[in-house]
Amino acid sequence: MEEREIMIVAVDGYSSTGKSTVAKLIAAKLGLTYIDTGAMYRAVTLAAMRGGLIADGVIDREKLREVLKGIKIGFKYNRILDRYETYLNGEYVEEQIRGMEVSDRVSGIAALDFVREFLVDRQREMGREEDVIMDGRDIGTVVFPQADVKFFMTASPEVRAQRRYRELQNKGVEVSYEEVEANVRKRDYIDSHREVSPLVQAEDAIVIDNGDMTIAEEVEQMVREIRRMSGGIA
Ligand code: C5P
Repeated sequence: MEEREIMIVAVDGYSSTGKSTVAKLIAAKLGLTYIDTGAMYRAVTLAAMRGGLIADGVIDREKLREVLKGIKIGFKYNRILDRYETYLNGEYVEEQIRGMEVSDRVSGIAALDFVREFLVDRQREMGREEDVIMDGRDIGTVVFPQADVKFFMTASPEVRAQRRYRELQNKGVEVSYEEVEANVRKRDYIDSHREVSPLVQAEDAIVIDNGDMTIAEEVEQMVREIRRMSGGIA
């Protein structure tokens, strides 16, 4: 019997465009494994913070290189709570990596070439074994330029900041709307201007501007595209 090729769906785009929400729903609908690459950059950031490697915005690169050697990042799907959870060296860190402290520092860590190399290798390994839908900033351009389907998600900074603000409020995080909007804009800027793998739209990506779309409409359109592009595999 001929072996079926592994299917890779890339979902890239700006911060808080709802990439993970739709990617998780599509994963469940089509039986793909969901991989949140932002969580991997966040986990490395948390490890750097805990090791005291970020002081006044300056990162101790040499020590971070050492720390990376011993880092293991894992994901588990919690069926009871119906959510994906991130583990750093076996420890559950999902809540800690979503807080503002990590959000404020993650783009600086993600701009380091050796951090990207390390995580991109892990991401490619994950995509070698099973059908995946991976969300991030450079999946369709750098990690899997050969992905079967590429999406690029966008919406205005205000729409995205509102969404993120509501999400944080629902989680009980104390933060002002202004802080959240400033963080969204700052991450957009750093992510699009960094030297290594800046956030750019892949030429062959399908653009989804979801400012005026419901989540259900988005998922429906994306599933339709995946089915069309994969010639029935999905
Ligand atoms: O997706 P999320 O907003 O959780 O990602 C956090 C940060 O990690 C982004 O702002 C970006 O700096 C970085 N990131 C990246 N490349 C990826 C995924 C995330 O640079 N593939």
